[in-house]
Amino acid sequence: MARSWADLPQELLRQCSRRLCPKNLSVFRAVCRSWRSAAVKEWSDVPSLMLADKGEMLWREFFCLRCEQFHTKLLPEVMANRYFSSRDWVLTISRDWEFQMLRNPMLRYSRIIKLPSWNKFPDIYVLPPFYVSFITKFVLSDSPTTSQDYKVMVIYDHGRRLGLWKPGDEEWTAVTSPAVEYCDVIYHKGCFIALDGEGGIYRCDVDGSTPFEAQVVFEMPERLLEPFGLVQLYLVQAMTGSLLFVSQWEDCSDFSMSRRRPTGSYRFDVFEIDLDTQTYTEVLSLENKSLFLGHNSSFCLEVDENHIIESNCIYFTKYNIPPSQFTEDGGVTNMGIYHLKDGTIKPHVKGKSSPLLWIEPSF
Ligand SMILES: [Zn+2]
Repeated sequence: MARSWADLPQELLRQCSRRLCPKNLSVFRAVCRSWRSAAVKEWSDVPSLMLADKGEMLWREFFCLRCEQFHTKLLPEVMANRYFSSRDWVLTISRDWEFQMLRNPMLRYSRIIKLPSWNKFPDIYVLPPFYVSFITKFVLSDSPTTSQDYKVMVIYDHGRRLGLWKPGDEEWTAVTSPAVEYCDVIYHKGCFIALDGEGGIYRCDVDGSTPFEAQVVFEMPERLLEPFGLVQLYLVQAMTGSLLFVSQWEDCSDFSMSRRRPTGSYRFDVFEIDLDTQTYTEVLSLENKSLFLGHNSSFCLEVDENHIIESNCIYFTKYNIPPSQFTEDGGVTNMGIYHLKDGTIKPHVKGKSSPLLWIEPSF
């Protein structure tokens, strides 16, 4: 029998530490030498939400889905105009227009990687008008945490173009394609896959013979994309590795276009796309998986009994928070947990500023 807390079996302590979020794990590791040596290394198996900036505050707030609490962290390096997330990294665009990536800022030891700035994009010579939306999406091929051979793709020029960067490049390279405007891009099976607002899907094989070209590989049927009530389109890679196409719709109280009034209630349609057979199938159940959709990063997670996360759900945040809301509280109505089995929505994260970014867990 243990004589003191420090004498508890190391395996028991290790198992306990595995159930903690990064914040509580760092507290656990600080208890004593015995607990520190038994504890797992810093990790996270559930997403966290980085909340909106509160003006000039050096502290950032995170909602932790592991312990269902808000954590704050002193993070002067993330004071920026815009934030994007992909995998366990956050891209910040500073007020001086410097681009940098930070490893999950909720972790104790972050890491910073600098990227070329706005004037290193091809054919961009002056600071773009409406510069806040100059970049609309950021995606990593692999996490720099685990791979040196990663690539970064962004949707830039207000949604009109794709830009590619890899370590060692001093400039961004434009990717050509017939698309007019992109609304999403993900990394899937060794290629970047982009989506336009018409349901066109484009593949850019960055390791192939034409790394700076994106070709049309699929088109969603028009009838699935009627503009009335359509809020946003997403691409997500399922846990099985298949490609998911998700459309978000807002219910309206009046069906005439001129008197359309959003009700604040949403519906999601999910389709699995098979690019090899050029077919699509509606997904009626995600079973023990859930999707996380929102501004920038979207991903799928498997849910087990250790998670607080509900299965067969879509955790969503408002896609694109206007700059005017970056420093305001409120705006919690546009996020929630959508249950795919019956279409009901449960509120999520109450009483705090608008959640901005999902940060994917790092395993
Ligand atoms: Zn926590």
